Amino acid sequence: MKFFKSPVNLTFIAVILLLVAGLIFSVAVITEKNSDIKELQTEVTSNNSEIQSANERITEIEAQLGSITEENNKVKSELEKAQQEKDKLTQENSTLKKSIEQMSAAKQQKAQTAVAQSAAKGERICYLTFDDGPSENTLKILEILKKYNAKATFFVIDTNKIDYVKQIYSEGHTVGLHSASHRYDEIYTSFDAYFADLAAISDKVKNLIGVKSKIIRFPGGSSNSKCNFMPELVKQVAEKGYFYFDWNVDSCDASGNNVSYTKIKNSVLSSAVTKNSICVLMHDTDAKSTTVTALPEIIEGLQAQGYVFKALTADSYGYHHNID
Ligand SMILES: [Zn+2]
Repeated sequence: MKFFKSPVNLTFIAVILLLVAGLIFSVAVITEKNSDIKELQTEVTSNNSEIQSANERITEIEAQLGSITEENNKVKSELEKAQQEKDKLTQENSTLKKSIEQMSAAKQQKAQTAVAQSAAKGERICYLTFDDGPSENTLKILEILKKYNAKATFFVIDTNKIDYVKQIYSEGHTVGLHSASHRYDEIYTSFDAYFADLAAISDKVKNLIGVKSKIIRFPGGSSNSKCNFMPELVKQVAEKGYFYFDWNVDSCDASGNNVSYTKIKNSVLSSAVTKNSICVLMHDTDAKSTTVTALPEIIEGLQAQGYVFKALTADSYGYHHNID
């Protein structure tokens, strides 16, 4: 083959072969690149579709957020309104409480003036009070009071003779509320405990006599040392419509066991002499038989001092230990 022996031809053939090889290589590279691009394009398309759903989700959440914000603002404005209403009522209440306090003080002043005026006319007023009953002595006390046509006040507790309040009431005496349990260690632990006990005796009395008594006496009086919230308690009982009564003459019938009837009588009569009007503390319990014994002489002795006997009413002077 002469053709292949010529160097020119051989060179020509080599160039041709090189060109063909180059062409084949280029085609291979381009094909590979094309497939890479396709792959990326597929990824872009798939990402685009995910971006689209993410956008849709964002729009949806923004709409939700908008409605939640609107609801939130509505609730906030309602909260603000309720707060304002509460502040207004609290303010009103504090004004009302102040009025009650002032009116109670004015009422006490008026009642005190009234007893002083009676005294000036020669009529001294005596409120006999019997605490802690009814008891087996109640009927004897009622009999003595009837005999002297004297009216009195019974501050009752929940005893097994509680039914006697019917007779006390029907004979024109005042049934006052003292306590259901009369347990200082329970009733003076909190306002709630005090008022729960008061409600218990109040309901009991209401069921028996048909009317709600608003006349009360704190166990131990308003000056007792067992209650450490008495200044606030006296305000609260007034706000609830109660009238509380202490005393200014102590018969001393609770100063020990079997206190002699002469001691009881003398305690009352000697203390009464120096006063214009009196509220006498006595007790109506099974153990206080000497109080019953002393009662006729107490009444006669006080009558001799110009005293008349009345039952306490809501308008009576309160004989308060701490305030007046
Ligand atoms: Zn008592």
